[in-house]
Amino acid sequence: MTTDKRVAVVTGASRGIGRAIALRLARDGRHVVLVSRSEGPLAEVKSQIEGAGGTASTCAVDVGDRAALAAAIDSIIKDHARLDILVNNAGITRDNLVLRMSDEEWDQVIGVNLTSAFVAIRAAARAMMKQRFGRIVNIASTSGLVGNAGQANYAAAKAGLVGLSKTIARELGGKGITCNVIAPGFIQTDMTANLPEDVTNAVKGAMAIKRLGEADDIAAAVAYVTADDAGFLTGQTIAVDGGMTMC
Ligand code: NAP
Repeated sequence: MTTDKRVAVVTGASRGIGRAIALRLARDGRHVVLVSRSEGPLAEVKSQIEGAGGTASTCAVDVGDRAALAAAIDSIIKDHARLDILVNNAGITRDNLVLRMSDEEWDQVIGVNLTSAFVAIRAAARAMMKQRFGRIVNIASTSGLVGNAGQANYAAAKAGLVGLSKTIARELGGKGITCNVIAPGFIQTDMTANLPEDVTNAVKGAMAIKRLGEADDIAAAVAYVTADDAGFLTGQTIAVDGGMTMC
């Protein structure tokens, strides 16, 4: 489906933060390509976007499968004849203390959270360069900025996104392409739903803004850095964490 709208790919769009980002970008007039592993939940988000007057398409792929992800991005570019915005949001946790962390836990988290962003950016960059326009956003975490006991794999992946993004910003900035990081703090989604109440209360106590984050808080920041007139904003890491880290 070709479109005059800017085309935005959002990974991990079936629920949580990615879903909120997709709904927000669609509301802002973008055609959104919804990516995650299963078609069913993506179809529901697509219907929701269309019900609100927006447009979307779906693409079911495991972002941890490098070849499948690269092929999916290629086919999205072919189908829509453009790719303007890429939001690498899909993420998983496999928490464990470092002495107990398995190779598998390490590899899975690095693969889904970090390597997938590299693969998607590499696949998207040529089309963005031709257009002389691109907005790339990598969703990291405050764990990647300040560390978090039990999350060596996750914090390393998220910190890796910061270095990746600054490098992409430098390499592609001359072609009208920006690359920024949004680092959420504690946001109420499935990922944080099962944390014990004392942990949630401790996090809330550490925030300047005395409430837990909502997925829409992250979507608003993504809308800001992907705006057409945000072309001078690149290589930045914005922590959207209610003032928890302020680093
Ligand atoms: P979530 O509710 O668990 O949703 C994760 C999303 O990623 C789902 O759409 C899931 O879809 C998709 N996904 C997971 N593995 C995938 C894979 N291999 N291939 C394709 N899609 C995959 O998580 P969330 O809280 O919205 O988090 C979104 C992002 O924000 C993540 O990068 C996370 O690290 C980051 N973050 C979240 C918080 C927080 O407090 N919630 C804080 C800091 C950073 P399927 O399962 O359907 O494939």
